[in-house]
Amino acid sequence: MFSSPTLQRLVIPVFLLLPFSLAAQDEDTPVFQFRNNIENITGDLYRASNGAWHAIFFVTSEGIVLADPINPDFANWLKGELDARFDVPVTHVIYSHSHFDHAAGAAVFGGATIIAHERVAMNMDGRYMHMPGDMIDRNGNGMIDRKEIDIPTNADPGICGMFPGWFDQIDLDGNGIVPPSELQSTILPPDITYTDRMTLVVGGKTIELMHPGKNHGDDMTVVYFPEEKVVFATDMMADALVRDDIRSLPSACGPLDGTPIKEWIRSYEAVEALDFDIFAGGHGGLFSKEEMMLPAQFLRDLEAAVEEGIARGMSLQEMKDSIMLEEYADWAYYERLRPKNIEAAYQNITRYRF
Ligand SMILES: [Zn+2]
Ligand SMILES: [Zn+2]
Repeated sequence: MFSSPTLQRLVIPVFLLLPFSLAAQDEDTPVFQFRNNIENITGDLYRASNGAWHAIFFVTSEGIVLADPINPDFANWLKGELDARFDVPVTHVIYSHSHFDHAAGAAVFGGATIIAHERVAMNMDGRYMHMPGDMIDRNGNGMIDRKEIDIPTNADPGICGMFPGWFDQIDLDGNGIVPPSELQSTILPPDITYTDRMTLVVGGKTIELMHPGKNHGDDMTVVYFPEEKVVFATDMMADALVRDDIRSLPSACGPLDGTPIKEWIRSYEAVEALDFDIFAGGHGGLFSKEEMMLPAQFLRDLEAAVEEGIARGMSLQEMKDSIMLEEYADWAYYERLRPKNIEAAYQNITRYRF
C-alpha cells in the first residue's frame, strides 16, 4: 500500500510550516528540518523524531508500544532502527489523534494492534473528517476541494492550511477533488477504541490512555506512563509551532479548531492533573510539568480578556488594538499571533456553545 511515490511525498511532514517561509527568517518564521533521530527519555521510554515531529515508544519484554507512526517513510525508518536495536516487535500502535501528519504509516508494523479514541474511527468513516488548521468543508460536498486547502493556506502562510502545491500531492488520481479516503489511504483504522480512559498493560508495564476532551482535534488521546511519570500528547499544549521553549503563542487556526475555548482549557487542565515529570509531546522539546502549566494559563488569560472586552461592548477591532497580553510579550510569535488569537477567541466565544 506504499507503492505510490506521490503519496510518499505527500506524507513528508510539512504541515503548518511552509518551505518558502525559510527565505525570510526572523523570530516569527517557522524553521524546521527533517532529521530522524532516537533519544532515550527515561528508563525504557524513547522519543523518535522526524524533524519537528515526534513519536514515543516504550520497550517491554513482550513488545514495543509506539505512539504515532507519523508517516510511512518515517515509520519504515523507525522499524529498521527498532529491529536492529531490540529483540521484540512493535505490538501496539496508539494514535494521538487522526490527523494525517501524525497517524499515517502504521501498516509498516504489520500485526500490531492499533488503538485510538473512538472518534478516530468516526473521522475515518468516509465523511469529511476533522482536519487541522482551518481546513473545513466550506461548500459542504463532503470532499476536499482545492479552495478548501488554499483559503487557510493563503490566509495564514506558515501557520494554518498547508503549502502551495499540497493539494496536487494529495489528489493522487488527479481528478481535482479529494475524497476523505484518498487523504487517509495510508492511515490504518483502529482495531481497538475507547471512550474516556483505557489502561493498557504490556509486558507487565502499565500505559494509561486518556481522552482529555476536544481541543486541537475531536479525537485526542493523551498517553500517560505512570511509573515513568511521562506524558505524550500531540498538537495540544505544545502545538506545531512549539520548539525548545513552551512559551509560544497558539496558532489559533479556525477559531481554535472548532472547539469551545472553555473545553480547551478543561482538557489542558485534565493533563495538568496527571502526576508527571516530563511532557514528551509530538512537537517541541522535553518539558517539565511546571512549563506545561503555562499553555492553559495563556488560554485562561486570553479568554478572560476577550470576555471582558465583550462585556464592555468593545468591537473586535478595539479588542485587537487594546488587549496586549503584555505578560506574553516575550513568547514566540507574539507580534504575529496576538491579534489572531484575540480574533479567534472572539469568534470562538461568540459562536460556540460550551
Ligand atoms: Zn493535528
Ligand atoms: Zn502536529
